[in-house]
Amino acid sequence: MTLSSVVSSDQEVADRPPLTMAEFKAMNVEVLSGVGRAKAKALAAVEVESVLDLLTYYPRRYIDRTNRAAISDLEDGVEAMVMARVDSVFSKRLRGSRTMVRVTVSDDTGRLGLIFFNQPWRDRQLSEGQEVVVFGKLDRYRGQNQMTNPIVDLVGDETGRIVPVYPQSGKAGLQTREIRRWVDEALRRSEQRGISDPIPESLRKHHGLIDRHQAIDSIHRPETMDVHYAARNRLVFDELLRLQLKLIMRKRAVEQSAVGITHDTSGELVDRFTSSLGFPLTSAQRRVIGEVTADLARPVPMHRLLQGDVGAGKTVVAVVAMLTAVQGGHQGALMAPTEVLATQHYLGVRTLLDGLVVPASDSLLADRPLRVALLTNQTAGAERTRIQESLASGAIDIVIGTHSLIQEGVDFSSLGVVVVDEQHRFGVEQRAALRAKGSQEASPDVLVMTATPIPRTAAMTVYGDLDVSTLDEMPPGRTPIATRWAGTAPEEAEVWEQVRAEVGQGRQAYVVCPLIEESDSIEARSVTETYERLQADELAGLRVGLLHGRLTPAEKESVMDLFRSGGIDVLVATTVIEVGVDVPNATIMVIVDADRFGIAQLHQLRGRVGRGIHESWCCLLAADAVGIAAERLRALVETTNGFELAEADLELRGEGTILGERQKGRSDLQLASLRRDKDWVVWARQAAGEMLDDDPDLQRHAELRSEVELLLVDDDADYLMKS
Ligand code: ADP
Ligand code: MG
Repeated sequence: MTLSSVVSSDQEVADRPPLTMAEFKAMNVEVLSGVGRAKAKALAAVEVESVLDLLTYYPRRYIDRTNRAAISDLEDGVEAMVMARVDSVFSKRLRGSRTMVRVTVSDDTGRLGLIFFNQPWRDRQLSEGQEVVVFGKLDRYRGQNQMTNPIVDLVGDETGRIVPVYPQSGKAGLQTREIRRWVDEALRRSEQRGISDPIPESLRKHHGLIDRHQAIDSIHRPETMDVHYAARNRLVFDELLRLQLKLIMRKRAVEQSAVGITHDTSGELVDRFTSSLGFPLTSAQRRVIGEVTADLARPVPMHRLLQGDVGAGKTVVAVVAMLTAVQGGHQGALMAPTEVLATQHYLGVRTLLDGLVVPASDSLLADRPLRVALLTNQTAGAERTRIQESLASGAIDIVIGTHSLIQEGVDFSSLGVVVVDEQHRFGVEQRAALRAKGSQEASPDVLVMTATPIPRTAAMTVYGDLDVSTLDEMPPGRTPIATRWAGTAPEEAEVWEQVRAEVGQGRQAYVVCPLIEESDSIEARSVTETYERLQADELAGLRVGLLHGRLTPAEKESVMDLFRSGGIDVLVATTVIEVGVDVPNATIMVIVDADRFGIAQLHQLRGRVGRGIHESWCCLLAADAVGIAAERLRALVETTNGFELAEADLELRGEGTILGERQKGRSDLQLASLRRDKDWVVWARQAAGEMLDDDPDLQRHAELRSEVELLLVDDDADYLMKS
């Protein structure tokens, strides 16, 4: 189909329905006059192939012409934008293979020199008489006004007040002015039929959204910045709505096809457990247990994310879920990412369940103790065989382990509830593998726990296939952790003194060494060096232990045992201790080169202290942290609230890192930002949910459904779900 065939001028055409995204998608950009072979190739280099791609190739910024400076007003050392005309272009080879292009521009008030180093293509980009917008910092050189390597946009002889500037590539030979011309043409040739709007008017009204035709028009050529914001809101909503429709439809499809277990949530085992705890549940725990229990009582398999800060009491919730399975005659499994963490969980859960009995199946009157087992790669020989047999026969009620649980040969009698701890270490595939360990007829319910909170709106997109429960309240009595940042040598010396003082009072300490991405062995070497130095110097005379990823599991376990039992005063470790290590007597943590860690990881590490009754400290060593690294450290000093930190992290890093380092490319998420558009994420999710409640297959919203298929590259949804 070509643009001219759908948009000619006769009456018959004017009567045809408005243009849809699918129609724009079917038109190659070459239907536009001015786009020939060469330009089509240049456009393809920025992934613009169809007219739809062009219409969703949005300006990266806008220039408000009433807001620009005059050359004579420029101040030395200050960044500014001017609009000027090119007077001359002169290019020169420097020594080596370096080049310099010198351009002179002027406006009615004066002249300005532009110097470009090593951008030889500027010579071709710029020519006498062109109108350009220049951003840069003025420096005076031999009494002349000049800017070095400024940003230059070609604007042509624009008349509008607001001038859009497109992402352009000098190398691909695309200029913002050309793109504008093509967009103009596409919009002009769409006027007669108009652009179709698949979003029901009631929904648009509800959110104060402008019509789509107007939005597409105004994002490209807004008359005022306010109009541009309205256009952006509308298009952001469209992107997020399509994403949420896809995520929710997928989730519901899974729910429909999977048969779950309707758990017995009225049994008394759970009640006996909660009343055996030495403390009342926090109200957040009660709420979350309510959410989980409601899921378990449904015939649909649960698929829920439990997020809660370190120490928020997630284990109790996990145990309640597993016991719910057990009281109905099923089994529970908890999978942890590491050996150390699995063992830790095993010890903790066994203590929590101590003394709990369940009815014995072979006798109506007798009770038997609840049976809990640990299965890791370390479990071998007869022990392993026995555990595997007991899992298959149902003699074991709850099993805790590592990846071993999803290995071949591990079969369950009736796996009812699966808890996966620390989701960021497992992929979707592993969750699925454990889920598949359920019986043929019914899938187990899955609860994923994470101690790395992410902001709610990010959770709605990143974990779009999961329901989310949040433990947003700490149990009483946790000692606050005071965090300090030691940035100078004297401050660092104070930190080591403080470690000695804590040890002097019978407490213990962690020293965490920097993350080294390149390799395990380099990391092991570096932590060993630190260990040796501290032992010889700052911490001489103390009992110092060493833990890193290169040790065998048995060696790791024995070091951890020694630390737990108080046989070591200071544990020098890599981030292997990041999760799950629980030694209440450890009251101080020193993080070496703290600026090399991210916020989430520092927070996670810090959670290893403050677990007992004693006041606790976290000391961040970072001598020359500046910029964002310094902001991160300041955020950690300021708050211990994981959710506040997650927000700060999002602010500092941008959503890019939450969504991963992904090339945005032709993703449907061109405008929406998890950071800027939090409210829109919530509204879009809600709107998508309501729409699908009403019309599960979008039968009555066929155009919207086709857009979801057309625009959302599978990647968008898949990517967001893999995390
Ligand atoms: P998380 O897994 O969320 O980091 P845990 O489940 O390990 O936290 O709990 C941390 C500590 O708090 C444990 O020692 C646990 O027994 C205790 N705890 C859990 N819930 C409560 C509560 N409601 N009141 C007091 N202490 C609690
Ligand atoms: Mg269920």
